[in-house]
Amino acid sequence: GVGFKGLLRRNGLLIATVLSVVLGISVGVLVREYATLSNLDKKYFGFPGEILMRMLKLVILPLIVSSMITGVAALDSEVSGKIGLRAVIYYFSTTIIAVILGIILVMTIKPGISQTTEHIDRTGITPNDTTVDTLLDLIRNMFPENLVQACFQQYKTKRKEIQQLNVSVNTATTIPPLSTTVLAAVENITKDYKIVGSYSDGINVLGIIVFCVAFGLVVGKMGEKGRILLEFFDALNEATMRLVQLIMWYMPVGILFLIAAKIIEVEDWEIFRKMGLYMVTVLSGLAIHATVSLPLLFFIIVRKNPYTFTLGMAQALVTALMISSSSATLPVTFQCAEENNNIDKRITRFVLPVGATINMDGTALYEAVAAIFIAQLNDYSLDVGQIVTISITATVASIGAAGVPNAGLVTMVIVLTAVGLPANDVTLIVAVDWLLDRFRTMINVLGDAYGAAIVQKLSKRELERMDLISDVDVANPF
Ligand code: ASP
Repeated sequence: GVGFKGLLRRNGLLIATVLSVVLGISVGVLVREYATLSNLDKKYFGFPGEILMRMLKLVILPLIVSSMITGVAALDSEVSGKIGLRAVIYYFSTTIIAVILGIILVMTIKPGISQTTEHIDRTGITPNDTTVDTLLDLIRNMFPENLVQACFQQYKTKRKEIQQLNVSVNTATTIPPLSTTVLAAVENITKDYKIVGSYSDGINVLGIIVFCVAFGLVVGKMGEKGRILLEFFDALNEATMRLVQLIMWYMPVGILFLIAAKIIEVEDWEIFRKMGLYMVTVLSGLAIHATVSLPLLFFIIVRKNPYTFTLGMAQALVTALMISSSSATLPVTFQCAEENNNIDKRITRFVLPVGATINMDGTALYEAVAAIFIAQLNDYSLDVGQIVTISITATVASIGAAGVPNAGLVTMVIVLTAVGLPANDVTLIVAVDWLLDRFRTMINVLGDAYGAAIVQKLSKRELERMDLISDVDVANPF
């Protein structure tokens, strides 16, 4: 059906989700105004949202494992090598484009110049985490020494009293247990504000991905013998996606409480006025990347309307905005890319999980802007070499950041120390990060989806050739 009813049927979930965002904000504002809630009540208020997060995180592991293994095995190793290379080139170039855009904006708008810094406390020890350390940790993490452990890495949990700021930060890099330097840095950052911080219990996604790529390649070459494994993982993938569809119907409820609870919880709204120009810089950078840079690239390569494509991703974008986590959004990203935008499963299974882990245009842009903003606050003039250093480290830091809330804030330390800025100054931007995090996560997810479409287009010939030589069904290769 066409008309209103048809529209409602096709987009019912999206409409419900958007409504729940509006309703959640209204409830949050009303409760803030008219009810006095104790800290405990505030915690209870967010409970239905917490359950949504748990459910989304729950399906990440089976989803990544089953999609990567079947995705890689469905392509022969030569083709998957080519596709992988194209994906990596896409990730790098769009991330660099985002960083350059951010740098241009922050140098033009100069959000940090007009502001007078109140006394900046620099008593903390500057962490000696270098870019090299971070890179090594990243690579180490690609090779987990224990597969089971990689599925449920327990990060050290820290609880500190709330003192100046009542912000809760769930921090994790793709690195954690190994990187004591990063942990020390985070501890150092959070010390001043006594943030209630816990390094979220997570999955070593990068390690799992590397293992699954190797496993998929090997199994794909095993012929008849490997078939049983592939059928198993394909069935697992299908079952997981069905679970995702169920979870998505709960999403509007979860999101309503998630956003309401957040609005009730934020203590310092005044800070938004003070940090206004900085936030405008970050947000306009993200907006330009999403509406100009990425669409232009898409149009040049794919030759279709990029905005229709973006619209198809709407559910995933709203989800990312609400939960600030690319990884937890991944199930929805899959759903939108495959169902609404008809991207080949052989591409999504391969490109999306990797993208959610290492391709973060929004984070990279944010890190570059934030670093230069902090330099401006400090009256610290940067030479060309330092600006180049910022662009490189911001890219590395975005790759190293895990797809979890506030991860970019932690990897910020890499960028700051690389140009000799005090790592402690991250505290200056902590208070507004919960908001910026949401928007940069949204752009991270959008970049992954565009990547899938662009890589698919570039790999058209290989995919078609495979369709010809094998008689397998395109949509369902097994
Ligand atoms: N929250 C972001 C993400 O999941 C990472 C970041 O903090 O920048 O994509």
